[in-house]
Amino acid sequence: MGMRLKKVYLWIMTILIVCLITFFTVYLYSKYTNYRKLDITYDKINNETPVYIDHMDEFNIKESNYIESNYERYIAYKKKHNDYSDDKIITYVNIGLDHEFYTNMMETDMSDGYLIICNKFHKLKNNYVPDLVSLDGYGGGKMERVAAKHFKEMSNAAKKDGISVYNVSGYRSYNTQTNLYNGYVSRNGRSKADTFSARPGTSEHQTGLATDVNSVSDSFAYTSAYKWLINNSYKYGFILRYPKGKEFITGYKYEPWHYRYVGVEVAKVIHEKNITYEEYYATYILKG
Ligand SMILES: [Zn+2]
Repeated sequence: MGMRLKKVYLWIMTILIVCLITFFTVYLYSKYTNYRKLDITYDKINNETPVYIDHMDEFNIKESNYIESNYERYIAYKKKHNDYSDDKIITYVNIGLDHEFYTNMMETDMSDGYLIICNKFHKLKNNYVPDLVSLDGYGGGKMERVAAKHFKEMSNAAKKDGISVYNVSGYRSYNTQTNLYNGYVSRNGRSKADTFSARPGTSEHQTGLATDVNSVSDSFAYTSAYKWLINNSYKYGFILRYPKGKEFITGYKYEPWHYRYVGVEVAKVIHEKNITYEEYYATYILKG
């Protein structure tokens, strides 16, 4: 009787072990073949290029300025600003607005040519000096060669309309900006100085593409020259760089006198869309 039970027990154990081995073999094989199937599908779709998982679909966006490496920042910024559209979230994070000004500084990408960005997130090299020409007869000072050519054309066109437009501050070197900024800091304190004067290396005047015209004063906004520039400067490739109401984007108080050369095509788009240069850059130029 005891032997018989032992035999039955052994049989049951053997059958169970065989079942388990079969089950695992089938399970592992199917898993392996599934992986292979997936691999083949990916290869067919992507022509054997690696598959990148992208979270772009999670956002409802019109512009194609989504940058996957900014994904975590988009999510964090969206949590803080749930009243903003996804387009705004992506553009503002691309600008860098999820960081305080002058934190997270990057070097200006000089390959952007006339579309380089220089602001409170992008800094020029200390020794960067553009190809400069004189603005003699147009207020004096210097500007970058192509920007100067267009500035003179703009000034000539204004003259024909009975308006005088001239440069009062064009190119400024890194050292000039250092002295200027330090002077403002000692007189007004650093936080006040930061609202109207650029820290060295972040002044658009060092690019040679910027000009302060006629009068560096708030009252310039009420002159006929200002009105003319607002309606015509884009035709010559210049934009009002620090507009009213956009201080939180540009980092500067409204400067009716400061214009920046970006080329005629881009200036036209910025004029029509009524956006800042930061928004333009973050939407159309910045690469991930
Ligand atoms: Zn200026």
